[in-house]
Amino acid sequence: MTSPRVAVVTGAGRGIGAATALRLAAEGTAVGVLDVDAETAEATAERVRAAGGRAHPVVADVGDPDQVKGALADVAGELGPPVILVNNAGVIRDRPMEDLSLDDWDSVVDVNLRGPFLMCQAIRPYQLEQRWGRIVNFSSSSALGNRDQANYSAAKAGIDGLTRTLAIELGPYGVTVNAVAPGYIVTDMTARTAARMGMEFDRFQQMVAAQTPVRRVGQPEDVAHAVAFLVGENAGFVSGHMLYVTGGPMR
Ligand code: NAD
Repeated sequence: MTSPRVAVVTGAGRGIGAATALRLAAEGTAVGVLDVDAETAEATAERVRAAGGRAHPVVADVGDPDQVKGALADVAGELGPPVILVNNAGVIRDRPMEDLSLDDWDSVVDVNLRGPFLMCQAIRPYQLEQRWGRIVNFSSSSALGNRDQANYSAAKAGIDGLTRTLAIELGPYGVTVNAVAPGYIVTDMTARTAARMGMEFDRFQQMVAAQTPVRRVGQPEDVAHAVAFLVGENAGFVSGHMLYVTGGPMR
């Protein structure tokens, strides 16, 4: 039997990242659970182990090149060479552009765009050695424009260019690079958005569901299923794409 593939999921301490780590582990993939928060990284790794999977928690800020390299070396030592990368970590700092500070801009671009680039660069040697790899970056429906999200929207739109370019550069080595663009998914991130808008979270979800063609909001598992397809053995001819997980078409 060949040894199982090793994945690294960033921001896997909670939300979509945690659901993705659990989903990939359920298919036999060993998962490096990377998060900036040690406690939640350990909690997700424990959930994976409790479900019978293999996981190793690693603490790193995806915007820091040394921490990123160290985290991948740590995963390689514990689980084997990582060849699947899910660049899920993300943050928001929503404000109208006239109030957006340089720090709001830098911190959001660092995690949502610089982080994925650093992770892709750091995992490249492992993927090239295996001549096989999968990368899934995280964009958002907000990349098409969203009020109070100039920083986030610009970073997520940048993911499109990064994904297309790396698909071209890494394709010859058996590595595919795609992105998912979730719509409204129920997580701590959207709970914060509801709070900022002064709306009760349940009511906010009902409002969004009514405007969504499938008439419901998304759950973290909806995105995890899409990621599982893109990182699978059978998705080798799908590369450079943006997969919207939005419950309807994007305009
Ligand atoms: P979340 O806020 O619930 O979780 C984000 C995770 O990333 C947290 O565990 C956090 O600790 C971690 N993280 C933050 N900064 C980090 C850093 N510098 N290094 C490592 N880890 C870090 O968010 P979520 O809703 O699960 O979102 C996951 C991804 O999906 C993000 O990229 C987000 O932009 C994207 N997305 C979410 C939605 C949605 O509706 N929830 C919609 C579109 C896109």
